[in-house]
Parts: sequence; C-alpha cells; structure tokens
Amino acid sequence: MSIKIIWFIFFVISFVSCKSNDELVFLNQEKLIFIDPGHGGKDHGCVFDNVYEDSINLKIASYLYEEIIIHHFMGYISRSDNYDLASLYAKNRKNEDLKKRAKFIEQSHCDVFISLHLNSYPNASIHGPMVYYKKENELSKKFASILQSNLNEFTKLDKIIHTSDFYLFRNTSKTGVLVECGFLSNHEERKKLMNEEYQKNIAHVIYQSIENYFLLEAI
Ligand SMILES: [Zn+2]
Repeated sequence: MSIKIIWFIFFVISFVSCKSNDELVFLNQEKLIFIDPGHGGKDHGCVFDNVYEDSINLKIASYLYEEIIIHHFMGYISRSDNYDLASLYAKNRKNEDLKKRAKFIEQSHCDVFISLHLNSYPNASIHGPMVYYKKENELSKKFASILQSNLNEFTKLDKIIHTSDFYLFRNTSKTGVLVECGFLSNHEERKKLMNEEYQKNIAHVIYQSIENYFLLEAI
C-alpha cells in the first residue's frame, strides 16, 4: 500500500471518529437526567441489620450523578444528603416529600428520571435488581428494558421488567423508571450493596443504560 493511501485512510478514520465524538458531546449537552434517591431524613426506607436503604440509595445516586456530569449530560438530584423534602412542620412528611419530588421532576423538564430504591421481601432468598416502568409509556418501557438487560448482564441473573402504580409514575408526565437496586433482605446482596465498589458498579450500569437509551432514541 502506498504512503499516500495510508495517509488517506488515517485522515478518514480521524475525521469519522472526531465527528462522532463531537456529536456525542452535543447529544449529551441536550439531555437532562433527574436522579431521585428514595427516602431520607426520618424515612429510612427498608432497614436490615442496621443497614439503611436511604443512605445506600444516596451513595448510588451520588456516583451516578458524578458519571452523568463527567460525561457532559445535565443532571439534577432531588436530595444530596440525609434529609427528606418535606417542610419543617409538615403534618404528613411522607406525603409532602413525594409531592415535592414529583413537582421537582416536572419543573426540571428532564428527558428521563430515575428513582433509586432498595427492596425487601419475607423470603430472604429472593435477590437481584429489578426495574419498574410507567404503565402505557412506551419510552419508559424501552428504557426499563435496556436497564434491566444491562443489570442482568452485570449480576448474571434473568429478571424481567415490571410495571407499577408508584406515586412518581402517577403524578409526573415525564419518562422515568424506578430501580430497586437489590434486596436488603438477602444476606449476600446486603453485603454487596454496602460495598463502595459494588455501589459504583451499579451506578455505572445505570449510566451506561442512559447512554444506550439516548443513542437508540436518536436513531
Ligand atoms: Zn424504597
């Protein structure tokens, strides 16, 4: 192959890869992701062996938020510390907290929201992350399928997506999913969920799924 041809191929490859990188950054800057770490404050969510759902939700959410910002997406997070969103003298804290989360999701004009939770079940052998989507919302179902399939690949499980009547689904118009990142009631999974590396890995899988979803949507 002549030197001229080699240079031409190099030029074409450089141009194509450079162009696709630029487009990806441009695409990211256009997208806004709302992350909602469930519970907080006096509402710990499920608790097993002094392991609190609300604090693990927050850790995974913080790692996810970091990834989103590093990759040039725009991100919002409903809480960044151990508090709920109800006002100081709220009569029904849980109710006011959920109302505010729904209001913030609406006001953010996000492209997608992700509510992060942990599961528990009387049968302690049940484990694995599970993704819930909004009924009759095709985009929510599409995103949930991508996310569940990536989580299955990570955990080597074969969970399926579910729909549910969660408050944030009923009271927002945005596309979103709720992820139960694992079962605190399962001894092995509880240990994993307490581990920082595992929390980062779960956050990374969620981030990758966001990117997969937007790329699919753009085609
Ligand atoms: Zn929860």
